[in-house]
Amino acid sequence: MKSQSASDYEVLLKRLQDKVGNTAKKARSRLEIPTPQIIWVGKNTIFRNFMDFPKALRRDPEKFLLYLNKELASAGYIAGERVIFLGHKTLSSFQALIDRYIKDYVQCPVCGSPDTHTEKSKPKVAFLICEACGAKSSIKGNYA
Ligand SMILES: [Zn+2]
Repeated sequence: MKSQSASDYEVLLKRLQDKVGNTAKKARSRLEIPTPQIIWVGKNTIFRNFMDFPKALRRDPEKFLLYLNKELASAGYIAGERVIFLGHKTLSSFQALIDRYIKDYVQCPVCGSPDTHTEKSKPKVAFLICEACGAKSSIKGNYA
């Protein structure tokens, strides 16, 4: 069983290396994270450039929002490019959560590359697939 998965991994790696040229890999491996634009209106917190994040991270906006809502204990909803969160949330709390999300759900734990995508087999079982090194890592929760 062990040698079987190792050879599968090598095949996958080879396939990825063939597909992704070295120059393309270099150009894509830097992750540009925007700064969250947060404003407060009454009792609400408006995340003005929310949509930039799922775009930059190549993740489902709904899942990314689900994560923020859970961690902030809020019920934010998407309104165009923005998300309106109920309650007063600080800029630093968004920055910390975004960093954590990237670490847990975007960055490959093996090589650190942000060039990953997710794959779901069952509702609560998801994997992070690295496009740089080919590693397949399990990820927790419903945020993939
Ligand atoms: Zn990797």
